[in-house]
Amino acid sequence: MNKFKNKVAIVTGGASGIGKSICVYLASHGAKVIIADHSLDEAKVVESFITSNNGCYGKAVYVDVSNPKDVKSLIENTVKEHEQIDYLFNNAGISVNGEFQDLNLKHWKQVLDVNLCGVIYGCHFVYPIMRKQGFGHIINTASLGGLIPGGLTTIYSASKHAVVGFSLTLRGEAKQYGIKVNVFCPGYIRTNIQKTTLQVSEFMNSEKNKEMEANMNFLTPEDCIDQIMIGVKKNRGIIFSPKKQLIYWWLHRLFPELIPNIWDKMIRHMKKNI
Ligand code: NAD
Repeated sequence: MNKFKNKVAIVTGGASGIGKSICVYLASHGAKVIIADHSLDEAKVVESFITSNNGCYGKAVYVDVSNPKDVKSLIENTVKEHEQIDYLFNNAGISVNGEFQDLNLKHWKQVLDVNLCGVIYGCHFVYPIMRKQGFGHIINTASLGGLIPGGLTTIYSASKHAVVGFSLTLRGEAKQYGIKVNVFCPGYIRTNIQKTTLQVSEFMNSEKNKEMEANMNFLTPEDCIDQIMIGVKKNRGIIFSPKKQLIYWWLHRLFPELIPNIWDKMIRHMKKNI
């Protein structure tokens, strides 16, 4: 059975990377997909790609997920046009990385507004609609960095740990109303986020450190999409991909000091690697 045929799905951050792959997958499985992003031109490129495939529906819509008014309009307009919302993927995300002392409060606000508040706004406005429908499925993108400590990512880590806690708590509450809630925790996946993330500590921008990052062998969203969508279809509380990176979570639970110690060594190495 095709779970997505004729379903209405909103994907924030749908113009690029993981969100784009989710949009293409859903549309090619018969869903009507709203590609919601603040990069409208890029979202339109995804729309054209989807609609060039006979019978596939995709529509690009501008949204800044950090603006509650935008998120409200996105959700209200979707319901007006399609009469229901089956899926909401709160996927848009950004990061500003660096040592804690190099981060300012604007950085904190910028990332928390998108990564955490963006997810909350999406859920806040879709929840009454899904409750009224008696069904609906929300998938919030957090990160493996929302389950284990990261390196030089205090803001990102705080935002993503919050999304994990929020989503799993909502999952328990929402069941009674027929609403499913999953949290997607990707490991490293090669997307634009590695290029757009601001690296505020100087040593992170040395040629050697940039080269080290560029040479890391990450999978692409296309490599991971089937695994992600299996998790959605099976309504898994926490969805992982790439699955190989689950080992870090197991290790962290068994040996809570291990990952911070690895990062300590790694950061010292990066500081010499300039
Ligand atoms: P990406 O940069 O390729 O895509 C992010 C998309 O979000 C872009 O299209 C961007 O325009 C959009 N966006 C950013 N801010 C927005 C805003 N305020 N309003 C609307 N749209 C906005 O990155 P990605 O890797 O595909 O990231 C998708 C999600 O996956 C993010 O939440 C990210 O934190 C998470 N994630 C990614 C990785 C990874 O390694 N790629 C790992 C863990 C978690």
